[in-house]
Amino acid sequence: MRTTENSKSTSQWKADFKEAIRSREQLETILNTSIPDTGYPLFLPLPLVRKIKELGKDSPLWKQFIPSLEEEGSQGEVDPIGDHLHAKGSGIIHRYKNRLLFSPTEVCPVLCRYCFRKNELLSGDDTFKANSKALIHYLQAHPEVEEVILTGGDPLILSDDKLSDLLSELRAVNTVKMIRFHSRTPVILPSRIDETFIEMISSFTPRFDLITLVIHTNHTSEWTPEFLYALKKLKQTDLLLLSQSVLLKGVNDEVLDLKVLFNSLIKNGVKPYYLHHPDSVKGGMHFTLPLKEGQRVYQELKKEVSGFILPRYVIELPHGNGKTFAQRSSYENQWLTKDGRWMTWDHP
Ligand code: SF4
Repeated sequence: MRTTENSKSTSQWKADFKEAIRSREQLETILNTSIPDTGYPLFLPLPLVRKIKELGKDSPLWKQFIPSLEEEGSQGEVDPIGDHLHAKGSGIIHRYKNRLLFSPTEVCPVLCRYCFRKNELLSGDDTFKANSKALIHYLQAHPEVEEVILTGGDPLILSDDKLSDLLSELRAVNTVKMIRFHSRTPVILPSRIDETFIEMISSFTPRFDLITLVIHTNHTSEWTPEFLYALKKLKQTDLLLLSQSVLLKGVNDEVLDLKVLFNSLIKNGVKPYYLHHPDSVKGGMHFTLPLKEGQRVYQELKKEVSGFILPRYVIELPHGNGKTFAQRSSYENQWLTKDGRWMTWDHP
């Protein structure tokens, strides 16, 4: 049975979610400035808005979360990483042989202006319409899938009961050995990592070979004492804690910012895993830096950060060809696809 304190903390994250800012008018009042209507939706937890206000317009937080006119640009792709080319319906995307993505929800704890799925989520098509029964049938027909990656939206925005039901269903498929969560929630809504979540997830770690939580964070200015406390609790579990970040123009493309981020992650028990080159997404092209510039930053970063701390710098190839290392290969302008072919591609 849940204790009173646990119930209080559970209601806390739900309350934080409920009181989030959803309209331009509300945001304009708090920030005391006009916010453009870019046609993309808005969702920002109140504590984050207060922090954005405190740090101001030039801050990495403002740039990541407050709408700007640059979102109206017509360049970029609606589906930059080719989700639809590998979509199986019902929230399933099967891009690599032994692992698949499942999107159990389209909802996020915040809407990031650079999001690579900003045109796809909430578009109403079947790609992100979750159906866990269909997932289980798919997994039974595809025993080669050993890892299910829960993405979104953000899987940790689901209640503990829903997550527990999903994990129980997945556990019943004996070919599924590993679960991976990709989530921005611990940083944005740290109250989500409460005692009941820790209890729930801890009850599942012995039942899979591995459960991994990949925490999405781009800059230490996103961090709060509550996030550090959430990490402390997560470290007490048997979860493997990794991070992913996106290299964003004007946000974290300075070597020092990345150095501080990755060293702080490792110090707090999280192994930096991926540094993504930004995807060419429509409405987010103003965050894209030339690949050559990204490679320069990463090269400099290598001199500043110990090898075991350095994340992999990766880029999604066009036409759904998957992720590959973003550092240039030994072949000029050639890139290794997920099925081992070399493709020629001139990235801007
Ligand atoms: S939390 Fe992730 S999926 Fe959601 S808006 Fe931000 S980048 Fe996109």
